[in-house]
Amino acid sequence: MNHRKAILFSAPSGSGKTTIIREILKRFDCFEFSISATSRQPREGERNGVDYYYLTPDEFARRVKADEFLEWEEVYAGVSYGTLKSEITRIWDNGHVIIFDVDVNGGMNIKKYFGPDALALFVMPPSVEELERRLRSRGTETEENITKRLARSAAELKMADRFDKTIVNDDLARAVDETQCVINNYLGI
Ligand code: ADP
Ligand code: 5GP
Repeated sequence: MNHRKAILFSAPSGSGKTTIIREILKRFDCFEFSISATSRQPREGERNGVDYYYLTPDEFARRVKADEFLEWEEVYAGVSYGTLKSEITRIWDNGHVIIFDVDVNGGMNIKKYFGPDALALFVMPPSVEELERRLRSRGTETEENITKRLARSAAELKMADRFDKTIVNDDLARAVDETQCVINNYLGI
């Protein structure tokens, strides 16, 4: 069942997609997280090969040149993120459904590539004020990074209607339940 399918989550930074994905991964054993490559530094607690593959900017550029990415974006000035093609085969070879956490442009590109084999979910914060509060309360970003992330969010929020489904992340437990229902419907489980 569910062979060669993918679920993708996109949202402005701070909306809560990583939190929702962690909860969903606990509830389903048929899913595996697509580990993106990034040229940013790991945050405290993040691990190479678990949260991301952390590459130097030079190594990232080398892999772009070698055509190793399905998609990649310079999401913030000087910081790139991308999905390695090898992640797709790795996860499908394990017989699992892929979970992507990508920015909004990456989400649109992946949806275009997979078509009906991907469910594209947009995680919507309850308000812009709450988005800012969450970004700050996470305590991982410098003021400069918070500003960069918020500056991007307005354009990202406008793209919600291009996704298959929007999940409003107001109350976390409710949002995770809704996500689970939508995924169950999509996969027919
Ligand atoms: P993203 O992956 O979209 O950047 P995170 O999952 O890191 O966002 O969430 C940003 C912050 O908001 C984290 O500190 C997280 O614990 C918190 N958070 C996530 N969902 C909720 C929610 N429904 N209510 C309150 N805080 C939340
Ligand atoms: P963060 O630095 O908060 O982990 O991620 C910043 C942004 O980069 C988030 O919107 C996240 O979804 C996005 N991102 C992470 N991996 C990828 C990827 O492989 N491709 C694209 N396009 N965006 C990604």
